[in-house]
Amino acid sequence: TVAVVGSLNEDVLVRVGRLPGRGETVVGRDTVLAPGGKGANQAAAAGRLGGGVAMVGRVGDDPAAGRQLAALTAAGVDVSAVHRTPGALTGTATIPVEDGSGENLIVVVPGANAELGPGDVDVAAVRDARVVLLQLEVPLETVQAAAGTARGTVVLTPAPPQPLPAGLLARVDVLVPNEHELVQLAGARPAERTPAELAALARDLAAGTVVVTLGARGALLVPDGGPALLQPPPPVTAVDTTGAGDAFCGALAVALAAGTAPAGAVAAAVTAAALSTTGAGARGALPDAAAVQAALPG
Ligand code: ADP
Repeated sequence: TVAVVGSLNEDVLVRVGRLPGRGETVVGRDTVLAPGGKGANQAAAAGRLGGGVAMVGRVGDDPAAGRQLAALTAAGVDVSAVHRTPGALTGTATIPVEDGSGENLIVVVPGANAELGPGDVDVAAVRDARVVLLQLEVPLETVQAAAGTARGTVVLTPAPPQPLPAGLLARVDVLVPNEHELVQLAGARPAERTPAELAALARDLAAGTVVVTLGARGALLVPDGGPALLQPPPPVTAVDTTGAGDAFCGALAVALAAGTAPAGAVAAAVTAAALSTTGAGARGALPDAAAVQAALPG
């Protein structure tokens, strides 16, 4: 089984003719409410692939909570360890998207996610999971507690990027940054880098296995020992890459929980994430296991 400990948000998407400047008001349209949050997106991706997924987190005491729980349940996720928090609001991400350019702004309000405490993660779902998936949208002490409670494989997406305590890195078995997050964690400057250069940065983190996601280029598996391996995606027509990294992590966790070796798990994750970009929204085109199998390269 897979346990996901992390954030649940409601995304509030609005279209605007032009993004507002400081102090400016613009009129938007077409408000769309969509379930989001890195944790919940990863859980939904894993749930859609099957194989027993439990979410651990906090939502508010509001209608958004019901929408999020219904969406996760529909994706096959066990939400019995997602607690409603009296007096709190479900976390939100408010996202105006500009017509034409597609450029956006994002304001995240953690809400109930900030109330997820170390005591919430000391549960059987986390202790007994073969894979525990973590991100950084809930308090860091809670992420550390979850890593300490886990007896299975610990997978961490270091997003949003922030300095990581050595004790946490030591307990992480698989770190999954995108290129930007890897550069931040390594304290390097942004630059065009070859896969070999990225692998060197990843090895400097001394974080066990590192899997660097590279957008349309796929992902780079950097094992603890042995050569790095670049896994390109199958050909797809990407229409919306929002949540691609979350689809990647969910699929990686399901494959690792099934006992798949790292190279095979990365191939499955690259394929699932590529397929997820073919529909709109963070959870728009999450594939099931048969779709991933059919699209696997080679
Ligand atoms: P994030 O969404 O966290 O920024 P990436 O952009 O690296 O992460 O994307 C994560 C994964 O999604 C990639 O490793 C790849 O498998 C898939 N992906 C993202 N963008 C594309 C694309 N344009 N074409 C095919 N696959 C993509």
